[in-house]
Amino acid sequence: MTSTNAKQKALDKVKQQILDDKICPELAASATQLVFGDGNPDAEVVFIGEAPGKNEDEQGLPFVGAAGKFLNEMLEGIGMKRADIYITNIVKYRPPENRDPFPDEKGAFLPYLKEQISVIKPKMIVTLGRHSMEMLLPPGLKISDCHGQPKRYKGQVYMPLFHPAAALYNGGMRQTLIDDFSQIPRILAQIN
Ligand code: URA
Repeated sequence: MTSTNAKQKALDKVKQQILDDKICPELAASATQLVFGDGNPDAEVVFIGEAPGKNEDEQGLPFVGAAGKFLNEMLEGIGMKRADIYITNIVKYRPPENRDPFPDEKGAFLPYLKEQISVIKPKMIVTLGRHSMEMLLPPGLKISDCHGQPKRYKGQVYMPLFHPAAALYNGGMRQTLIDDFSQIPRILAQIN
């Protein structure tokens, strides 16, 4: 079996475990379906957002709405495709009315997110937005200060970025995100 197949099987198991463990039953009841993650199980880069929105909830795939379109454009800008990366969210059911996920919801999904990461073993994790950064990096960091600055933490390289949905309609933040994003290939090439 190839390593990619083995990783896909391991990811499928994590997905099933979330269902078997009945994580966040209230969110599960109000959502259409679990949005587990998508992309290459052998990716060098894993992107982690906040939680599914309406389009993601309908399609069962992360980042397929407006923020996802912007993300795809930025990927294209650095010569990458969605099929090259893996993408997921902290919280894997859509919160009602797209409210911010609650701390207990983020905490409940964290062990499964960590499992996903340990299966994929990416060179770099790109956190999209504050929620994702706060769950994975040490407390006290401010996204406005540390966006675009790679960090090594517990042996893993992280790149905190603004969330594409927040930057979409904010000209200054949008350009900052594009500039931060453009650093990804150079930083990846430096990691061995
Ligand atoms: N925003 C997110 O954080 N995740 C998605 O999947 C879509 C929009």
